[in-house]
Amino acid sequence: MASPRLSLTAGPADPRSRALLDWYDRHRRVLPWRALPGRRSDPYHVWLSEIMLQQTTVETVKPYFAKFLALWPDIRALAAADDQTVLSAWAGLGYYARARNLIACARAVAARPGAGFPETEEGLRALPGIGAYTAAAIAAIAFDEPAVVIDGNIERVIARLEAIETPLPRAKVEIAAALRPMVPAGRPGDFAQALMDLGSGICRPRNPDCLLCPFRSTCKAAAEGRATAFPVKPARKGKAIRHGTAYLVRDGAGRILLGTRPERGLLAGMAEVPNTGWAETAPPDSPPVRAEWTRRNAPVIHVFTHFELRLIVAETRLADEPTPPAGLRWVAEADLPGEPLPTLFRKVIGIAG
Ligand code: SF4
Repeated sequence: MASPRLSLTAGPADPRSRALLDWYDRHRRVLPWRALPGRRSDPYHVWLSEIMLQQTTVETVKPYFAKFLALWPDIRALAAADDQTVLSAWAGLGYYARARNLIACARAVAARPGAGFPETEEGLRALPGIGAYTAAAIAAIAFDEPAVVIDGNIERVIARLEAIETPLPRAKVEIAAALRPMVPAGRPGDFAQALMDLGSGICRPRNPDCLLCPFRSTCKAAAEGRATAFPVKPARKGKAIRHGTAYLVRDGAGRILLGTRPERGLLAGMAEVPNTGWAETAPPDSPPVRAEWTRRNAPVIHVFTHFELRLIVAETRLADEPTPPAGLRWVAEADLPGEPLPTLFRKVIGIAG
């Protein structure tokens, strides 16, 4: 439960931080996982939202956050949930290793005294799926630790505020060094959330609204009229491309043939449409059943963090309802929403939103 904030001490020493907190007190976003002004956030809510928000937008996360809280209102409930049910509820959020780590982390926290999260960055980092950024964010927002929280939005704001000319990712060290002395001892959680709000609403990547910004009189990039030149990007390299074939099989009853991915690796443990796997050179054909196949002209294209996948879809419809091949199963279309099907395979089946 949210508890009263413990450390409403004197204002921050850095006038820029003071200006930012004043702005935040007037313009803070209302978010489902955010505590009311003057209250401390529930660590479970902060952790859940931060894990969901990695690589995903606030608007995408909101319905998932509501669904998870309705199904599992606290960490003990989530820790006791069945893996497949959690993966199914996660389906569509992508980056499924995070869902697996979410379950592992919930169980690790539930096993602690009082099922409480560690309150320090160091303690939080020892949990599954919690990296440097997430540990800092939870420590600051849920426990008011003076952690240096840097996500993509904050990185942009600070790179502009200080006009840091070093390209990313090398600039990260300078950004952290510039931010550290700005973190106020009294309201570090609000300070981090204020920077997040500023980065997402005002100091936007393309059209920063410098006139409305609390840093407008102190920002070096704005003073030089070069806001969008920062952060300086590294030279672009093209993404690697991988190819493969997915086999979309329907039986006489219209059911779809699905498998389950291995417990390790990309999309671990999720459901899949049978496929050849993927590589830089398309792997050899390996259809799961003997049949006449029709290949769709355009491949399904899906972009992962480190490569772009181009998957040819081969389709067939069987006349009868045979026993599925070993390791595969028939799933009725009406039951697909309950399957932990990643977006890639939803696209293959043609049900991606
Ligand atoms: S003044 Fe402009 S560029 Fe500088 S931090 Fe504010 S919005 Fe960003």
